[in-house]
Amino acid sequence: MTRAYKVYSIENGTVIDHIPTPLALKVISILGLGSEGIMTIGIGFNSRKHPYGKDILKIENRELSHDETNKIALIAPDATINIIKNGEVSEKRQITLPSEVRDILSCPNPNCATNMLGARKHFMLENKETVTYRCRYCERATVVNADMLSKK
Ligand SMILES: [Zn+2]
Repeated sequence: MTRAYKVYSIENGTVIDHIPTPLALKVISILGLGSEGIMTIGIGFNSRKHPYGKDILKIENRELSHDETNKIALIAPDATINIIKNGEVSEKRQITLPSEVRDILSCPNPNCATNMLGARKHFMLENKETVTYRCRYCERATVVNADMLSKK
């Protein structure tokens, strides 16, 4: 008997697996993906690692860059990235936290220039273990969580 896939497989593109539920939509927002092709989102699969389940995201006909996939580490450091070519996994990619992050994180300090004056958001990695980033404007250090993702 062939295994019934709950999310159909893709010929070419990028598969992001092991995203903790319900962060798949946040991953799409981090990547800035809009209506540029077919995406399949699976939410709430059984997972040994994640007590609330895992999400899977398949992006057809788009090979994400390393800069793009590293952003995923901000909220889903255990996510796995497979690049698919001609129906085969052509690359199993490791993700590492980006050393700096522009635009996608909002500073939690309400008095920061990025919030008061619309300065461009810019954070530097401070601590990999705790996923702490420091704002370049107000210098507040903060542990990243999904709520810091700026709303466009
Ligand atoms: Zn700031």
